[in-house]
Amino acid sequence: MIYTQNLHTHCTHCDGKDTPEEMIETALSLGFTGLGFSAHSYNSYSPRCYRMTLETTEEYKRDIRRLQELYRDRLDIFLGLEFDAYSETPLVGYDYVIGSLHYLKKDGQFLGFDRDAATVQKLIDEHFEGDGMKLVRAYYEQLAALPQYGKFDIVGHFDTVVKTVEQNPFVDVESKEYLDLAFGAIHALVKEIPIFEVNTGAMSRGYRTAPYPTLSVLKEMKRTGVRLILSSDCHDRRYLTCGFDDSVALMREAGYREMYVLKKSGFEAVPLEV
Ligand SMILES: [Zn+2]
Ligand SMILES: [Zn+2]
Repeated sequence: MIYTQNLHTHCTHCDGKDTPEEMIETALSLGFTGLGFSAHSYNSYSPRCYRMTLETTEEYKRDIRRLQELYRDRLDIFLGLEFDAYSETPLVGYDYVIGSLHYLKKDGQFLGFDRDAATVQKLIDEHFEGDGMKLVRAYYEQLAALPQYGKFDIVGHFDTVVKTVEQNPFVDVESKEYLDLAFGAIHALVKEIPIFEVNTGAMSRGYRTAPYPTLSVLKEMKRTGVRLILSSDCHDRRYLTCGFDDSVALMREAGYREMYVLKKSGFEAVPLEV
């Protein structure tokens, strides 16, 4: 299948490796017709905050708007934001917004769980009594509450909480208990945010051998009417289409025959070809 865009990308404005221009040139060389930038939102509780401040957020917006104009005849560039649920960044002036959860609120603290396997296990031991399912429960409950924090177009990396289970199986992602929690979040979110992403970012970073969501979760998404986009959560332009063929195969296995892409006029369905 020919891929024409990626809406979940990070550049040097936040924690990505490449400049926006480098990302754009790579997108053009791949034959893309669209490219979305989705820098992380600023939040005061993240120690590194992906290099973003409220000021640099404004610079980011100006820069992407400038490039949007500069490349207007060659590529549809979209200004997006990946908004962390408890972030303080105002949600104004974007073409689209991805709602994601990288931190959990617990006992007055913000706990970063989007980490490597050893750090996630430490978090489970220190804050969830050694019970991985308690972490999962907290994650899906807080993810389900995402619409309280703003108006979102896309749910980001839906089951990222289990990103590291291939290295450390702290929960069984096929167990009824796990799936009940994940499905509960799907049902709560789909009414407010109908588009979710299939995200291959953890594949490019070596955490997973398959994209997420998992097949069982994708099947439930199909049953409940969730629409999908395909992204690589790209932090390095070499991975702009990383794992896309595997993802299309997975979506088709879950029963999907189309996915969505963003056009200037809004989201449009495109057939999923083998
Ligand atoms: Zn993210
Ligand atoms: Zn991201």
